[in-house]
Amino acid sequence: MLNKCPNCKKITKHTNGNKFRPFCSEKCKLIDFGAWASGEFKISSNKNESEYDENL
Ligand SMILES: [Zn+2]
Repeated sequence: MLNKCPNCKKITKHTNGNKFRPFCSEKCKLIDFGAWASGEFKISSNKNESEYDENL
């Protein structure tokens, strides 16, 4: 199964071994999380940043 990385749009294999999915790598995952933290992709919700900190 193929997967497109939301950050760099690279097509990667969607395997059980990829713990960074849907991202292609840890780097892309962290970049995306950083964008959320900075409010770039902020959506209207009641979620606070501490929720995301737990996932890092
Ligand atoms: Zn990527």
